[in-house]
Amino acid sequence: MSDISTDVLIVGAGGAGMYAAISAARSGASVLLLDKSLIGRGGATVMAQMTVAAALGHQEPDDCAIHLKDTLDAGRGLCNEELSALLCYEGPKRVLEMEQWGTRWARENGHIKQEMAPGHSRKRCCYVDFLNTGPAVAATLRRKVSEVAEIRRISNVAIVDILVKDGRAIGAIGLNLVNGEWVTFQAPAIILAAGGLTKLYQRNSASANMGGEAYALALWAGAELVDMEFVQFFPIGHLAPRLVGMDPIMWDPFRYKLGGKLLNGSFEEFIDRYGGIDFGKYTATRDIAAYAILKEVEAGRGTPHGGAYLDFRHIPERQLRAAFGPVIDRLLTNGIDLTQTPVEVGPTAHYHMGGIRVNARMETRIQGLYAAGEAVGGANGANRLSGNAITEALVFGERAGACAGERGKRGSADGDAKPVAAALQRIKAVKEQRAKDGVSPIALQTQLQKIMWDKAGPFRTGDKLAEALARIREMCEEELPRLTIADGNSYDMDLQDWFELRAMLATAEAVVKSALARTESRGAHQREDYPDADEALLKNQALELKDRALVASWLPPVQLSRRQK
Ligand SMILES: Cc1cc2nc3c(=O)[nH]c(=O)nc-3n(C[C@H](O)[C@H](O)[C@H](O)COP(=O)(O)OP(=O)(O)OC[C@H]3O[C@@H](n4cnc5c(N)ncnc54)[C@H](O)[C@@H]3O)c2cc1C
Repeated sequence: MSDISTDVLIVGAGGAGMYAAISAARSGASVLLLDKSLIGRGGATVMAQMTVAAALGHQEPDDCAIHLKDTLDAGRGLCNEELSALLCYEGPKRVLEMEQWGTRWARENGHIKQEMAPGHSRKRCCYVDFLNTGPAVAATLRRKVSEVAEIRRISNVAIVDILVKDGRAIGAIGLNLVNGEWVTFQAPAIILAAGGLTKLYQRNSASANMGGEAYALALWAGAELVDMEFVQFFPIGHLAPRLVGMDPIMWDPFRYKLGGKLLNGSFEEFIDRYGGIDFGKYTATRDIAAYAILKEVEAGRGTPHGGAYLDFRHIPERQLRAAFGPVIDRLLTNGIDLTQTPVEVGPTAHYHMGGIRVNARMETRIQGLYAAGEAVGGANGANRLSGNAITEALVFGERAGACAGERGKRGSADGDAKPVAAALQRIKAVKEQRAKDGVSPIALQTQLQKIMWDKAGPFRTGDKLAEALARIREMCEEELPRLTIADGNSYDMDLQDWFELRAMLATAEAVVKSALARTESRGAHQREDYPDADEALLKNQALELKDRALVASWLPPVQLSRRQK
């Protein structure tokens, strides 16, 4: 077993984790950046292909205050305005710093090109041609991280526990996936940058590494979560035909630029049945589109894969190519000819607005424990504007790195072996206690994903949520402890899946409990039994663990004064 000490330990090497590493090293701290996957290739950042929102004002006059207003409007009264302001005011600096480090934002007439996206009142979304934004951002950060001597990188280590002593984070325990060994880390400052939770859902746009582990690790360490009910479902995620190496939410820019008809399984337009107006072009808002598609499917009028058709056959090839040249070719290599074939789309879990509760220094209530990126809750309230998530990863990563770096370089490894030994004993017991004849962890993960989709998906009711909660509790208490874990050491996927499942269950319970308590519909949280927003619930919902049970409390949203906005 190895034992590694560092000033700052960063869990997760997506956009937020990598930016945090650079920033912590800039403040003079030694940094250890680790990921359960490969550094910079594991989570959502490298998958995102669209845009990054920042009020640069290059395309047309813009202002950070206007970006903030748009963000708060979309957040439907629940944004932590301090965090939203940080995102909007620091966004331009991070986007320009990324350019200095080598990101080639699309340019036009000498300036960075910025596009309009839904909910933004200005053209402020930057991108890298063609649908290469996330890969380019990740590549820039990977290169930059590799150039900084103070940053050590470790791939293929999954953190399964944060060590806490007297209300202070002092280290972590990781599973080395290559040799099956446990690794202990000692650090006076730890940043949770392990991304979102959309893998909890059967239909998701996520990578395999987004099982909501950051949230579970934070909860178990004694930190709070906030607004966990607000999962964003993207209405027209790709369902079929099979799409390899392309973003499953890529149809949005097609929608802004070209329109496209949304048709049910009988090739009829249907949005007007649900209060949307399309007139042959796909212009319906996201919530109406998601609702309409799911209701058509429920009525037996869905497509073969349970969604709707998005049809571009009426748009001439020359127009398709003018808008998306190389993308049209990549689609063709996937066997998709948009002039001949409609694609199937449907709502898919895409992003999490809720998350770990932090202040503007990205500190949780546990000393030395920070969060960054999608793991953080609150900046986007009840709904997120497109392009705000990568900005959030960069901005919060930078801030968390700077603050953790300051703490880390002043502190020192705790050196107390007792919490490490106790945690290791708990963890090692997992393998020893497993029966050999149960279902596998991955089979239970699949069951959980189906429950979350069916009972806690885009449209919820109290009854369905209560059923989900009961089933999740049963899985936690009765099934998780009895699961089969194969013997073997190197690349012991069962063991990794078991720990991931344990975190997925804890996070799923947090989502369902919060959704059950929010008896209203607001932003991304839609209750069919409470279809209207309730002004009395214009509050954030915090969750913490007390005596191993999840306990909720309501908090007034953090607001800025008019002058600060
Ligand atoms: C398909 C897709 C398209 C998107 N498009 C856009 C877009 O165009 N614009 C936009 O603004 N946003 C977009 N988003 C959202 C945005 O990409 C994410 O919110 C953002 O990149 C999150 O960055 P992050 O660094 O917080 O997390 P991630 O990039 O997800 O990184 C988290 C890392 O943590 C690692 N990890 C997880 N658990 C552990 C553990 N236990 N131990 C160690 N490591 C762990 C993962 O392997 C991963 O590498 C998109 C998301 C998806 C999925």
